[in-house]
Amino acid sequence: MEEQIAKNLTEKEKNLYLRLEELGGNLEEINRVKKKYPMKITSYYLNLIKEKDDPIWLQSIPKKEELEDIFNIEDPLKEEEHTPVPYLVHKYPDRVLLLVSSLCAMYCRFCTRKRKVGKIKQIPMEDIFRAIDYIKNHHEVRDVVVSGGDPFMRPDGDIRTILDEVFSIRHLEIVRIGTRIPCIKPSRITDELIAILASYKPLYMNIHFNHPDEITEEVGLLCGKLADSGIMLGSQTVLLKGVNDSVVVMKELMHKLLGIRVKPYYIFQCDLVKGIDHFRTDIQTGIDIIKNLQGYTSGLCVPHYVIDGPGGKVPVSPQYIKDITPKEVLLGNYLDILYSYPVSKGQTNQIANKKVNRIGLAYNLRKLPGKGERSDKYIEYDEMNTIDAIRQAIMSDNYEVTLLEADELFIERLKDSEVDFVFNIAEGIHGESRESHVPAILEMFNIPYTGSGVLTQAITLNKSRKKEILSYHGIPTPRYQLFKSPNNKLRDDMAFPLIVKPDAEGSSAGITNSSLVHDPESLKKQVAFIFKHYNQNVLVEEFCSGREFTVALLGNKPLVLPIVEIDFSGLPPDLNKIDSYEVKWELEKPENNHKPLICPADIKTKLKNQIEKTAKNTFNVLGCRDFCRIDIRLDSNDVPHILDVNALPGLMPDPGSYSRFTYACYSYGLSYAQVILCIFYSALKRYNLLLPHGKKLYNDLF
Ligand SMILES: *Cc1c(COP(=O)(O)O)cnc(C)c1O
Ligand code: SF4
Repeated sequence: MEEQIAKNLTEKEKNLYLRLEELGGNLEEINRVKKKYPMKITSYYLNLIKEKDDPIWLQSIPKKEELEDIFNIEDPLKEEEHTPVPYLVHKYPDRVLLLVSSLCAMYCRFCTRKRKVGKIKQIPMEDIFRAIDYIKNHHEVRDVVVSGGDPFMRPDGDIRTILDEVFSIRHLEIVRIGTRIPCIKPSRITDELIAILASYKPLYMNIHFNHPDEITEEVGLLCGKLADSGIMLGSQTVLLKGVNDSVVVMKELMHKLLGIRVKPYYIFQCDLVKGIDHFRTDIQTGIDIIKNLQGYTSGLCVPHYVIDGPGGKVPVSPQYIKDITPKEVLLGNYLDILYSYPVSKGQTNQIANKKVNRIGLAYNLRKLPGKGERSDKYIEYDEMNTIDAIRQAIMSDNYEVTLLEADELFIERLKDSEVDFVFNIAEGIHGESRESHVPAILEMFNIPYTGSGVLTQAITLNKSRKKEILSYHGIPTPRYQLFKSPNNKLRDDMAFPLIVKPDAEGSSAGITNSSLVHDPESLKKQVAFIFKHYNQNVLVEEFCSGREFTVALLGNKPLVLPIVEIDFSGLPPDLNKIDSYEVKWELEKPENNHKPLICPADIKTKLKNQIEKTAKNTFNVLGCRDFCRIDIRLDSNDVPHILDVNALPGLMPDPGSYSRFTYACYSYGLSYAQVILCIFYSALKRYNLLLPHGKKLYNDLF
């Protein structure tokens, strides 16, 4: 030993240095490192070292690598953020960590509290009482982890006082002590101390062990006494490179722990703490260790492998579920032999947290009306450029997209495609509930999809049913009468002017300038016209004379996008200010140079709030999902009334097409791809499917 080092050393320290030198340690290096990160080792633990750099040495003796770590950070667990009073961490709902000692019997080289260890004074008892008061005032806390540093660095009297205080709290159900002293200085746990501990029940003790060499005869005897006195013993282990990062060592440690009546509880992935990077293994190492314990040896030996971080402990485990299909869960056992666990009759699996890859896009392609077909027969169908834009948007986030035209061959296409999710914009081809057909087929095959479900699609396509539901919920909608034959008589309580519509069409199909009627004669004429050309019931509604708006909703909270007003100004006097076929055509004529939509609408906050609330209520009572567009008109008293709800609004990308839903989204600042992905992710989230990472924008939306 050099003269310089030998100066000012106590006898005990001299012995330590002599022993380290004897084992071949570099005292200069040790001294350099311990200036930044202090060293302390018990003589008991020192005696366990068999040779330089063995697992016991690595855990306790400074190494130059500690100074070389520049990457890691000092407080990776962000415990300070969860510290309502000093020395108490309240991170989980029903349990807290109570720090009762800042001192340790040894300074483990890999310690999470490395930056503080050995540099601070013992915690004053007054501060501990204040932390205990917090627990007294927080009735939700039912479990206290008493830790440090090491609690057993306090004298027996303090320990008794702390346990007395803690055990007097009625709402506490269990108390645990976290300690390393039984492993590094077993002599500290005297019979007197055990007698104190034994008087409190239920008391759990988690002891920190990292290597089989730490399980000595002395430790075995001590744990036996602790267990005999009624204390439930568990272990915590840190996965450390060079110490225990092998299946053989870890299995031996777990076996030995069970042998001394300690139940393995946690294996911790090494924290991202500055100065300990040379101890870190990759996560696969931990997974492999667990994989080689489970099934190969007693289940009692298998601890939870966790990574602690700012969000708390996250369990990491080998993947035993190999696949989930609607009819079975495919399991791999410990030998990776596959077994099927089928669902019970009539049930299907909820496919939670699964990643979808193959996305189908269900649509109906716009075509020209055939001979004898109505001119607006296919008005709701989409054009190829819209379908392609949606496809591109989904592909932009690295999904495969398969186009699935939803005609009579849809089911065959769907089966051949093997898609695992469908983005649905199909309007349906036949029948009064056609918009619900694609959702119904998808549900039949248990394929998740975007947008509203079967019932909502059917109801929103039926104006009178929809109005019944809204009325039931007290949401204003114009008074109406359903004509089931051209000869029905107008009820006495219906007042002109009235507006006449087919009961089950979207996109203002069947609404023309003559739809607004002021007298019984034109009413009769228009009702007869709709019966003839649309072959369905006719909805006669009182006319709301005020301004007209359309509201786009996105996500499932839902988010209300900026309100769009339909600008009827500048129309020729012979055109009624309604959203008719002629008006749309007139307003959108390029030569008129008139923007038919104003977004955001220029309205007072009170009206805006009223419209938003009405729209959200409508979305919710009708059970809409992911996206929807709601048409609203003010009556003569400026009360917003629901005119229509479109659960499959058009998604044309070109702003010049005045597609109202996308218009509102653009005004909010979304790009077209973002609009599509918002709808998509909103559905993924709803089904508990795996969302792509880092999509903060979308998270904000739902
Ligand atoms: C680990 C820990 C607990 C206890 O968690 P369990 O998973 O119940 O063992 C409580 N509080 C904090 C801050 C912790 O880190
Ligand atoms: S006993 Fe625990 S707290 Fe103390 S130095 Fe070792 S690991 Fe850190």
